[in-house]
Amino acid sequence: MPAEDTMAKLVSLSKRRGFVYPASEIYGGLASSWDYGPLGVELKRNVKDAWWQATVQERDDVVGLDSAILQSPEVWRASGHVDNFTDPLIDCKKCKGRFRADDLQNQYCPEKPSKHPGECEGELTEARQFNLMFKTFVGPVEEDASVAYLRPETAQGIFINFSNVLTSSRRKPPFGIAQIGKSFRNEITPGNFLFRTREFEQMEMEFFVPPDDWERWYQEWQKTRFEWYVDLGVRRDRLRLREHGADELAHYSRACSDVEYEFPFGWSELEGIAFRTDYDLLQHTERSGKPLKFFDPQSKEHYTPYVIEPAAGCDRATLAFLCDAYTEEQVEGEERVVLKLHPRLAPIKAAFLPLVKKEGMPERARKLQQAVSRRFPTFFDAAAAIGRRYRRQDEVGTPYCVTIDGQTAEDQAVTVRDRDSMTQERVAEDQLLSFLDERIHGSLTSADG
Ligand code: ATP
Repeated sequence: MPAEDTMAKLVSLSKRRGFVYPASEIYGGLASSWDYGPLGVELKRNVKDAWWQATVQERDDVVGLDSAILQSPEVWRASGHVDNFTDPLIDCKKCKGRFRADDLQNQYCPEKPSKHPGECEGELTEARQFNLMFKTFVGPVEEDASVAYLRPETAQGIFINFSNVLTSSRRKPPFGIAQIGKSFRNEITPGNFLFRTREFEQMEMEFFVPPDDWERWYQEWQKTRFEWYVDLGVRRDRLRLREHGADELAHYSRACSDVEYEFPFGWSELEGIAFRTDYDLLQHTERSGKPLKFFDPQSKEHYTPYVIEPAAGCDRATLAFLCDAYTEEQVEGEERVVLKLHPRLAPIKAAFLPLVKKEGMPERARKLQQAVSRRFPTFFDAAAAIGRRYRRQDEVGTPYCVTIDGQTAEDQAVTVRDRDSMTQERVAEDQLLSFLDERIHGSLTSADG
């Protein structure tokens, strides 16, 4: 299937079924802004929960944080964002298109979409540096003294809280601080649906290590983060790790590799795992005058830890999960569209479908649904033929459909249909919750009973 087709189909399905809508649509939209609908909000929350569980909950060397979006502008001076967080911007004098000068091969002339900027008759201006941070004002007076920035990354909120976390949670390197939250960048060329937007969510973790130990942890986090996507069902052959060349590295970074996914529009970054040295802690130490160091009781010395940073995009990950899950199949001469999302990510875990709207079947289905919905998001659908109802659930990725039929009242059992194999199994009503639990959370549930 051509790449544009897959993306167009995904955008259309997302809108039609309530995953993602164009933002401000009734006012004509706002370029590259998106709103998550009823199913999208569940999917995205599941992505964040899975990251938090793997990164914070299941480890005893990482703690969480939720820092403010608005911080002192000093933070962004110290981090280098005020001076350096720029992209080179060029304009086409003919069509007035604006482009990122360092990425022309991936951009197209708005008037001649088969050509890259500069390859048409239009003349390009000299590149000028454009700061990507959104500015705002704190307080009622719009004057320079009150300028603040919407954070362009969540990482700096972690660095400036290094000492707070160290003392309040009694940690010592190696340990990490993780955070999920909104970031804002005034991107010159947003696009590709959720891939690049001006407002997005990040899932970032700064892992502080003794300087001698950075290499081991750098390797470790590359592996851990790569496998996270595989564990959540992404095809291994559509993932790769790409080590940055020396010319790609930020000035503070000594090594960096990206987890990339083969999107319909090509291989692109999902997340970066960077070795940031002690750059950020030293910058904030210098500017704030507050030492951000760790006192090692063994050597009786203070030192500044080195940092390994896995930084992922939540919306980008969500897009990758959607792209990877989107499947068209021929079933009995008909086309079936199915989102083969990992059950943990699926917005609805089980749909309850009374076979017909009589003989007490809807009531029985409702009662069962109520019990299961205390544990999982569920859905009830009594309208249309059963085959159509299955297809509707396939299209939104619901892994299990539970059918209540005429026999249920006699044998206290229901039919559970598996989304991917489409096989059906008879399950006793009183076993349904543990049956679903086992399949959705796998061996996890045996530990918590
Ligand atoms: P890119 O090169 O794609 O602009 P980056 O290397 O600048 O990304 P980082 O600063 O390392 O990105 O941010 C970490 C992660 O945050 C990225 O891997 C990506 O998943 C996500 N991210 C960054 N910018 C955006 C954006 N404009 N829209 C959506 N997600 C983003």
